[in-house]
Amino acid sequence: MRFPFALTKKIASHIIKHKLRKTPKFAMVLQLEPLHTCNLTCTGCGRIREYSTSLKDMVPLEQCLQAAVECDAPMVSICGGEPLIYPKIEELINGLLEQGRVLYICTNGMFMRKKMRDYLAAIYSPSLEPKLKKLLAGKLITEKEAETIRKSDDAAKKKAVIRPTKWMYWNVHVDGLEFTHDLIVEREGVFKECIEAIKMAKICGYQVATNTTVYRETDVAEIEDMFKYLSSLEVDGHTISPGYDYDAAKKDMVSRLGKDPKQFFLTRDMTRQKFAKIQDWGKAFTIFGTPVYQEFLAGKRELTCTAWAIPTFNVKGWKAPCYLMTDGHYPGYQEMLSKVQWEKYGVVNGIARDPRCEHCMVHCGYDPSGALGTNYQRGDNWKNIKYNFGGKPKPFPASPELEKRAYNGVTIGKGHLAEAKAIINSPAAGARGAFSHKEEEHQHEAHVGSHCGTGDTSERDDLLAKIKDVKNAE
Ligand code: SF4
Ligand code: SF4
Repeated sequence: MRFPFALTKKIASHIIKHKLRKTPKFAMVLQLEPLHTCNLTCTGCGRIREYSTSLKDMVPLEQCLQAAVECDAPMVSICGGEPLIYPKIEELINGLLEQGRVLYICTNGMFMRKKMRDYLAAIYSPSLEPKLKKLLAGKLITEKEAETIRKSDDAAKKKAVIRPTKWMYWNVHVDGLEFTHDLIVEREGVFKECIEAIKMAKICGYQVATNTTVYRETDVAEIEDMFKYLSSLEVDGHTISPGYDYDAAKKDMVSRLGKDPKQFFLTRDMTRQKFAKIQDWGKAFTIFGTPVYQEFLAGKRELTCTAWAIPTFNVKGWKAPCYLMTDGHYPGYQEMLSKVQWEKYGVVNGIARDPRCEHCMVHCGYDPSGALGTNYQRGDNWKNIKYNFGGKPKPFPASPELEKRAYNGVTIGKGHLAEAKAIINSPAAGARGAFSHKEEEHQHEAHVGSHCGTGDTSERDDLLAKIKDVKNAE
């Protein structure tokens, strides 16, 4: 099966229960942001700029658990910020698992190996030696770390840890191969760390997914290569979504000065071009997201936004109307459902009900629409069943060539960050430098993406456009 049966059953039962009760609006996935602190400062990340990143501004553990009970979404995506920085992340994960939720831990991958070593220390017995040997052979842990695991004391054994379970996925943020990903996250070595964490997770028995945002300047061929590489590592699934942001200044330039929106936005037309092969990718790789949403991305049908089905809860409360836009925060999920005028948002029959929604096709607005039967067409249920219960695509064959294409940055001596920064910030580069965002005043009205990496997509587009030159010059 493409996805574990127990998970598919849980989600299907949730939908059927609410359909039978005729519940007008209900949650499918809770986007839980326990904090907005992060160890990285990726280009254009909106989350670390929109909210305070002080560790004092965290959602207390009990409130996080209560938010999940309140909206009763069967799936919870723990994001942020970097959720592995949350001091009670183990207790949060274990508490949500006790509630019977399916969990996605959306992480930049930098602390995953540490958390997995804690797990190995907690369960250590001599029977773990073959696994440690494998991890050592793959250079995924050091001899010293193996010794610490072996010598784990009572405190390490009693520590709350993140254990592998079929109900949880690590969901690692990967926006391209080494060169591109390290540049976007503004730190060399992050791609390598993500890959090592993924390899370690697979050896330890965890389920691993990845999440990727596609920008205006994303090279689709590279994304396909990235899927091949991740599939060769036996990654269990991938979320992919178009990036999107609404910026009042850019909108004004389109309407007042008659500029071409393609200069600023990943427009719906452009998204459809980028995602033209999404259905083929869905056959070759384990892409999360319904086939109906894939048809929407490929431009084969329209869907209505169901942002209420993927609510976001953070330190300010329930964020409305969606993960991307903030028109307000509410103290309760039901209060948000009843007070927000949902009919003011989304695109219906090609007409944007809110101008900010005009080019949005992101998964947190439209993926649930595919599962919930909004804009139902004959045969949709069968398509969803066939996709979910169909065979899991086989891993792409690993090869030295594929590995070489993946590690195309700092690993092979292309420590490109300083060089790329200089090019991008040079007067010759025109426009604003993608790396100068820390000094800029941010005036964007919406912050975007679908998961980790939400932010001003134009900054990433500037960056990606300019690194094409850097790459071509090699
Ligand atoms: S920005 Fe997108 S997800 Fe948010 S309300 Fe508009 S269409 Fe829906
Ligand atoms: S995009 Fe994700 S990893 Fe990067 S700074 Fe933002 S929250 Fe952190």
